[in-house]
Amino acid sequence: MLANELGRRGIRCLIVDSKPGTAFNPQANATQARTMEHYRRHGFAQEVRTQGLPADHPTDIAYLTRFAGIELARLRLPTAAAAPEAIKHMSGSWSAAELPHRVSQKFVEVVLREHAQSWPSIDLRYGWQLQSFQDTGQGIEATVQPVGGTEAQAVQVRAAYMVGADGARSMVRAQLGISWEGATGFKRNFMGGRMLAVYLRAPDFYKYNPNDRAWMYVVVNPQLRAFIMSVDGQGEMAFHIQMKDDEATEALTEADAKYWFNQAYGKSYREATGHDMAIEILSMATWTAGHALVAQRFQEGRVFLGGDAAHLFTPTGGLGYNTAVEDAVNLGWKLAHVLRGAAPASLLDTYAYERKLLATRNTGYARGLADSVGLFDADPHLEDDSPEGVAARAVADEYLNGHVRREFNIPGITFGGRYDGSPIIVSDGTHPPADEPNVYIPSACPGGRPPHAWLPDGTSLYDLFNFEWTLLVLGETQALSAQPFETAAAALGLDLKVVHQAGTELQALYQAPLALIRPDQIVAWRGDGSQEASSILRQVVGSEFGVL
Ligand SMILES: Cc1cc2nc3c(=O)[nH]c(=O)nc-3n(C[C@H](O)[C@H](O)[C@H](O)COP(=O)(O)OP(=O)(O)OC[C@H]3O[C@@H](n4cnc5c(N)ncnc54)[C@H](O)[C@@H]3O)c2cc1C
Repeated sequence: MLANELGRRGIRCLIVDSKPGTAFNPQANATQARTMEHYRRHGFAQEVRTQGLPADHPTDIAYLTRFAGIELARLRLPTAAAAPEAIKHMSGSWSAAELPHRVSQKFVEVVLREHAQSWPSIDLRYGWQLQSFQDTGQGIEATVQPVGGTEAQAVQVRAAYMVGADGARSMVRAQLGISWEGATGFKRNFMGGRMLAVYLRAPDFYKYNPNDRAWMYVVVNPQLRAFIMSVDGQGEMAFHIQMKDDEATEALTEADAKYWFNQAYGKSYREATGHDMAIEILSMATWTAGHALVAQRFQEGRVFLGGDAAHLFTPTGGLGYNTAVEDAVNLGWKLAHVLRGAAPASLLDTYAYERKLLATRNTGYARGLADSVGLFDADPHLEDDSPEGVAARAVADEYLNGHVRREFNIPGITFGGRYDGSPIIVSDGTHPPADEPNVYIPSACPGGRPPHAWLPDGTSLYDLFNFEWTLLVLGETQALSAQPFETAAAALGLDLKVVHQAGTELQALYQAPLALIRPDQIVAWRGDGSQEASSILRQVVGSEFGVL
């Protein structure tokens, strides 16, 4: 994503990734609506939305005693085919250009890679790794080499900046001596401790499953806790099971994975066929749930950290990869402005401030969601055909129907991230709405996402925004001149587009006739006069006010 941000702006950069190509494993499975809006900004949201599940495949989340057992709770959500139209009729918390998309990261990475590669300034090398680097103060000197290659194949690279987006075990973070803050090691019935991840093919999954199709199935059961997500809607799935402390997860075999899969599935298949369901294992690995970690620092001199190198999540809420995308979106325009000479280097210091704020917020939300589902005790009678079983299921039904909405209807988390207190946000003294995970109140209070609107002709307001800066001129007051902003932007070398929207609705939504939108679609300033245009523009690119 960072390569897309930089490539579109013509910034030369080299990306090395030690993997031979994009992810083989499904990895993250939810692209949040805000991430989809960023993909829309780049023009490939619809392309991403065609990836993964068939367009008409349900994207529901269901909680059950077993995958083919008794259903306890369900959240029904629009299919990929229905989503673009559905969002046009939603309002309030879901005033947005895009709905989320349930798709495995492995498919999204291919789209991102293809677009990144299309920019002439991008040199993208899979199968190459960073061996060493040094920040000389004037720039970065690094050695990169093909994986498994010889020293003779090593290449010396000089760059103005470097970004360590090298994952949870980041060698860049380690070399900089940056440690984690936050909390880890949470133990829960589910989503706390060792998990076994199995990427598998089970074409018979739906055949003997009496429940409506879902995208994600979560097993709540006194014997085991697990979840499975459909990767392609044809039987390719990502299966994750909570292991108990006494199970030696590193020594688990494919036979163990097949056993656990069938336990999680339930007995309907065995009863119908006389044998366990055969599955093909594509890969398996263990991972640890229970992190809520944020790097102490996101920057050291000319080196930045982003993605899992900077924050580690428990995947409840599906926030790890989405937070990583927003890191790239935030850093991309800042690097480009500094490298082009349109902003001082101190603009880059705001990356750490703004993104650490959001990483801390989002890991906290994910931790709360993990507690919400993971500390729920499955009653020993949950599967019983008895009055105790009925009573236990009624309790689970009520609790889990509440939980599924807490975890999977999160417009507040998705749209409500804010950069309050950042020196490049011009506060107007107003207070933003309260930060709540499940409610988003559109507000143009500087520091947050601009309120979205569908225009009378069906266009998204966001589609009128510039890739760089946008000045919204709202309402009937044509006397308001954007000229001082245009003049000041030209003097500073900023690419500013003025968007006039007459009519009072948008002005009421923004509670001001003027609003300045950053390249990453954040309100930088709003007001009712352009007298201070030069000083405002200087502040939002970090020229007027010093380093944090
Ligand atoms: C099995 C699994 C399941 C997951 N499930 C979810 C989920 O359900 N929801 C969710 O939100 N998140 C999930 N995640 C996390 C999500 O995938 C990450 O948050 C996301 O991939 C972060 O992206 P990243 O680019 O920061 O790191 P990564 O995707 O880890 O990418 C880092 C890259 O750096 C490369 N690299 C490392 N060292 C070097 C070096 N020295 N030189 C060159 N390249 C190097 C690696 O090859 C790797 O490709 C899951 C992760 C895994 C592994």
